[in-house]
Amino acid sequence: MTRVAVVGAGITGLAAAWELAQEGAEPVVLESEPRAGGVIVTERRDGFVVEGGPDGFLAAEPELPALARELGIGDRLVDQLARGSFLWTGARLEPLEEGRAAALLGISEPVHEDLSKGFRSFAGGMADIVDALVVRLGSRVATASGVAGVARSGRGYRLVLTGGAAVEVEGCVCAVPAWVAAHLLTSLGVPPARDLDDVLYFPSLTVSLAYRREQVRARLEGTGFVARLEEGGTLRACTYASLKYPNRAPEEFLLLRAFLAPVAGDPAATAHAELAKILAISGVPLWTSAFHWLRGLPRYQPQHAAHVAAIRDRLARLPPLAIAGAGVDRAGVSACVRSGRTAARAVLERLGAVQ
Ligand SMILES: Cc1cc2nc3c(=O)[nH]c(=O)nc-3n(C[C@H](O)[C@H](O)[C@H](O)COP(=O)(O)OP(=O)(O)OC[C@H]3O[C@@H](n4cnc5c(N)ncnc54)[C@H](O)[C@@H]3O)c2cc1C
Repeated sequence: MTRVAVVGAGITGLAAAWELAQEGAEPVVLESEPRAGGVIVTERRDGFVVEGGPDGFLAAEPELPALARELGIGDRLVDQLARGSFLWTGARLEPLEEGRAAALLGISEPVHEDLSKGFRSFAGGMADIVDALVVRLGSRVATASGVAGVARSGRGYRLVLTGGAAVEVEGCVCAVPAWVAAHLLTSLGVPPARDLDDVLYFPSLTVSLAYRREQVRARLEGTGFVARLEEGGTLRACTYASLKYPNRAPEEFLLLRAFLAPVAGDPAATAHAELAKILAISGVPLWTSAFHWLRGLPRYQPQHAAHVAAIRDRLARLPPLAIAGAGVDRAGVSACVRSGRTAARAVLERLGAVQ
């Protein structure tokens, strides 16, 4: 059976491995962290579903529902409950046009997105799709197995792991963040890959806060609000997580998710203090949970597409090796699934394993 390595077990690498397995190849997924999922992290506690990374995907994009159905979890898909977001002006919350919230936060993607259908997620949070992939891929996913180097070996590659072990494969899908891909591919002898170091990853700090419903006196409308940057303060935005999607909190509770600028001191205390003023919250949160991504969402430079094309052009002269994921294609979860599956098929086509 054709053995293909997938480096990185974020949603891109897992989707690539799934595609490889569906086509009859033998993927071996090598992930440096002790858990799969990359920036998709869902904590489940006391009936709450708390997202540390993405909380949903564009409903207009078909990749996640299609993958969920293949994995037998199509019934876990949930629709957004509330629509619309608001702007905190410093004095009041004013309604925002569709799409403006993402633009104000600087997270809209360069291509035109179809926001008209809203967003979707999974009943148990975004990790539902990761969990299903990990179960179905089974022992083909090796966590705590970081790849330190990739070298050509025979008609394929030899991947050296951080502990010193080596894996021989006929092809490879590289689904790691841009700066890791830059390092691995440059040392393989693909000089244009150095340009992937130009992809900047913005830090992200979110705090989820649980309250009893009666603690929050303001009327919560829509999915949340963004705060005007010039108003100072640390709070950039807030999602009413338990009003946006079903099953995020038990009936008598509310789950809020605050997006903060980098903050000195305790981010949870800062988030609560700022939210308490805006939403007239009394008392203290039942609990809080902070997630800090030092490198969160990627931002591409204007030359990025040309850089990626040059790398792919160079890779075409080597044994089958494809790059995929948020570091090279688009950052949305759906785009990552598409990128991973496309990369897997490209590797298999070059290996002659699919027509
Ligand atoms: C806070 C936040 C909120 C977001 N919100 C949304 C949202 O609501 N909707 C949406 O569509 N998108 C959202 N995104 C974007 C989206 O979640 C990501 O772009 C996407 O999940 C990235 O997947 P990936 O597999 O390409 O990369 P990653 O998730 O970064 O996975 C890469 C994997 O490679 C591993 N790795 C690194 N180095 C090595 C090595 N040397 N060897 C082996 N493995 C290695 C890493 O540990 C990681 O597991 C959000 C992102 C963040 C950070």
